[in-house]
Amino acid sequence: AIDVEQLSLRFGDKVALRNISLQIPKQSITAIIGPSGCGKSTLIGCFNRLTDLNPEAKVSGNVYINGRNIYHAKQNVPALRTQVGMVFQQPNPFPISIYENVVYGLRIKGITDRRILDDIVERSLMQAALWEEVKDILFQSALKLSGGQQQRLVIARALALEPDILMLDEPTSALDPISTLMIEELIFQLKEQHTVIVVTHNLQQAARVSDQTAFLNNGELIEYSSTDVMFTMPLEQQTEAFITGRF
Ligand code: ATP
Ligand code: MG
Repeated sequence: AIDVEQLSLRFGDKVALRNISLQIPKQSITAIIGPSGCGKSTLIGCFNRLTDLNPEAKVSGNVYINGRNIYHAKQNVPALRTQVGMVFQQPNPFPISIYENVVYGLRIKGITDRRILDDIVERSLMQAALWEEVKDILFQSALKLSGGQQQRLVIARALALEPDILMLDEPTSALDPISTLMIEELIFQLKEQHTVIVVTHNLQQAARVSDQTAFLNNGELIEYSSTDVMFTMPLEQQTEAFITGRF
C-alpha cells in the first residue's frame, strides 16, 4: 500500500505538486489522469524517489510504502527502486538481446547463475504475455521487436525484479488498438500479485482497467474516487468538465 501525506514538489520556483494526500490499497489498479503537464509523471516519480535524480526538485511531505517512510534518511534507494518498479513513457528497450534486457536489473543486483536467470526470463516473459512470441529469438536484438512487443518487454524487465508496486507511465500511447488491449489485459492480471499504477491520457482505458482514479490538474489532486464514481457521477465539476472533454 502507498500512503501519500501532504506531498508537495517544486522544480526551482515552479510548483509541480501541491499538497497531495492519497492512499493506494494493495493489489489494486490506480489510474492517474489529467492534462499534459499537470504532474502525473512527477507524482509517480516520488514513489520510487526518481525525483532525487533532479537536483532542482525539492520535495516536502511524506510517502509511506507498506508503512515505511521512503523519504527517511536511512531509506536504501536502490532497494526501493527494486520494490517500486517503473515503466517509462517511451518504451526503451536497450540495444542488446531480448534476454539481456530482461536480466539487466538482475545482473546489477549480482545474480549471475545462468539457470536462475533462465528461469526468471521465462517467468517474466510469460507474465508479460510475450514468451510465446520470443522464446525462439531470445538472443536477437530487442530493437527488432514491434512497438507492442517492446512495451511488453520493458514490462517483463520490470517484473523480473519482482516489484511489489509497478508503475506504468502511458504504457499504450504509442500502440495500435490490438496491442493496447493486450497491455490492458496484462495490467489486469498483474493486479493479482502487484499494486499497479497506470498514468494514462486514454480515459476509456482508465475506466476499463482501474479500481480507483486520481485526477490531477495543475499539480493539485482534484478528485480521487472509485473509478465507477469518477466516470459516472464525479464529485467535482472540474472532473466532470475534464472527462466530458469540456476542459
Ligand atoms: P504529460 O501528460 O505531458 O506527460 P505530466 O502530467 O506527466 O505531463 P509532468 O511531467 O509531471 O507532467 O510535469 C509537471 C510539471 O513539472 C510541468 O509543468 C513540467 O514542465 C514540470 N517539470 C517536469 N519535469 C521537470 C524538470 N525536470 N525540471 C523542471 N520542471 C519540470
Ligand atoms: Mg508524463
